[in-house]
Amino acid sequence: MSTSCTSPDRNQIRHWLTTTNPHDLDELWRQADAVRRQHVGDAVHLRGLVEVSNRCTRNCLYCGIRLANSKVPRYLMTTEEILDCTRIAVEAGFGTLVLQAGEDESVAASWIAEVISAIKRDTDLAITLSLGERDEADYRLWREAGADRYLLRFETGDDKLFDTIHPSLPGRRSDRLALLGLLRETGYEVGSGILVGIPGQSFDSLVADIERFGSLDLDMIGVGPYIPHPDTPLAQHSERFLLADGEQVPNTVEMGYRVLALARLICPRANIPSTTALATLDGPAGRELGLQRGANIVMPNLTPQKYRRMYEIYPAKAASTEAAEQSIAGALSQIRALGRTIGSGRGDSPNLLKDC
Ligand code: SAH
Repeated sequence: MSTSCTSPDRNQIRHWLTTTNPHDLDELWRQADAVRRQHVGDAVHLRGLVEVSNRCTRNCLYCGIRLANSKVPRYLMTTEEILDCTRIAVEAGFGTLVLQAGEDESVAASWIAEVISAIKRDTDLAITLSLGERDEADYRLWREAGADRYLLRFETGDDKLFDTIHPSLPGRRSDRLALLGLLRETGYEVGSGILVGIPGQSFDSLVADIERFGSLDLDMIGVGPYIPHPDTPLAQHSERFLLADGEQVPNTVEMGYRVLALARLICPRANIPSTTALATLDGPAGRELGLQRGANIVMPNLTPQKYRRMYEIYPAKAASTEAAEQSIAGALSQIRALGRTIGSGRGDSPNLLKDC
């Protein structure tokens, strides 16, 4: 199990989340980088991200593509457009395509299955899905069509906070932890993660979330700072949610790095991306620092430019207007400049080998 390696205990996690001593923080970055190198090596795997649709029936209080945000024009990519992205991913030597979307039944399960089959027919790409909470039958259908991995962040393990910021749909209680178990049973490689610094998120709950990464034995972990979107209730009324100073986790980029580094210590063999949220807050240095503080994955955005601005889960998503070719070239030169190599093959999670 990944948890048996170098896991810091609860008190160490809390210390590293709250310390103001720069030497202690340097030690955290150093350990995360060393554990990353020892367990997943210097290769950085590239995943091509395709934001298939911004249609969404949910009203998450943090997310810019929530149903109630009528300012966002809605789109659904065509099969041909997705296959064009697939070709770009293959030409660039990527091992994985990530299909992400809002949660909407009009993004039909049968159509997604056809897209998966078409990609699998033409390429050796691994396919990761990030399509939110769907019926068990959909998850099974997509797995049978050839999808390999599923990303579903539990966002926060504080049930009360989660229910507030991620309201359940009528008659269907959101239970992302249960869904992660179901996804695992269905045969997916499973990824999850959290938002860092959600108004209302306490250090106690953040410590518990980081410990949970280990008990869930995640193959992939995505974490990033919460970035307020002006057209959402959480941004408009943050004062209603914020905890007292000292209790409230700040949504700073630095707190994002701390959680990323701790995720690496807790799950040494997981695939962990240097997320776009870090690059959005910290510019190009954000991706680099993520890679130096535990991450081993980069996800260049391959979504056609005409749709980029519409997939605005938070404002100024990094490089939101950059063409796919530019975003790939930028990622490659950054990785090489760090002395890291570009991963070849699918980049399956070493965590599945379970022998650390
Ligand atoms: N519909 C899918 C994909 C959502 S987008 C799902 O619900 O799983 C992927 C991730 O973006 C979310 O899991 C969330 O953690 C993150 N996200 C959403 N709004 C955000 C915000 N305002 N700031 C930072 N990250 C955000």
